[in-house]
Amino acid sequence: MAWMRCIQERLAQERAELDHLDAEIGDGDHGSNLSRGFAKVAEKLGERVPESPGALLKEVAMTLIGTVGGASGPLYGTFFLETAKAMGASAAFSAAELGRCLTSGVAGIQRLGKANAGDKTMLDALIPAVDVLASQGDVAAAAQSAQDGRAATIPLQARKGRASYLGVRSIGHADPGAASAALLFACLVKVAR
Ligand code: ADP
Ligand code: MG
Ligand code: MG
Repeated sequence: MAWMRCIQERLAQERAELDHLDAEIGDGDHGSNLSRGFAKVAEKLGERVPESPGALLKEVAMTLIGTVGGASGPLYGTFFLETAKAMGASAAFSAAELGRCLTSGVAGIQRLGKANAGDKTMLDALIPAVDVLASQGDVAAAAQSAQDGRAATIPLQARKGRASYLGVRSIGHADPGAASAALLFACLVKVAR
């Protein structure tokens, strides 16, 4: 719950910055899309406490799929839904166990969006971060990998999503989805401390 609340707060703060990144290579709505979705998530969490982490992330997924227009709603929705399924009804997770559940989430994004590492998407931050979390159980190292993955999207040419329409003109800008993915992991470090 603390992780989701942190994401909601940070998205509200960084909405304009994420919209700006998306304006450079897309349609300028990524921050608005996600902050709308997570505002709804926070509202729902205020009404009722889910019975398990898996139930929580399932509710997050359904809310994002229902409220976020654009590509990122179904993609992050699937990420949290597949993570929730992997969590089952368990009540507690080590960092490495959480990493393994998030690995299922990443696989869900790849099944839905057919993108791979290097296509200049959220996956360029998520794949390395989740790999580090699952293999090392180190939340701070995972967050650093997400930040590095975000930065590594700058010289890439987009091959998926709206930014791919720009061709070589997508080079030289960070991918907004990779930036929001890095924000997710920055929050995970903060709440895990
Ligand atoms: P839209 O492009 O519909 O306006 P958003 O702006 O909310 O949606 O989200 C854009 C982000 O979605 C991109 O920066 C990218 O990271 C991510 N994205 C787009 N297509 C894909 C895909 N096929 N697989 C993974 N991520 C994708
Ligand atoms: Mg957009
Ligand atoms: Mg859009």
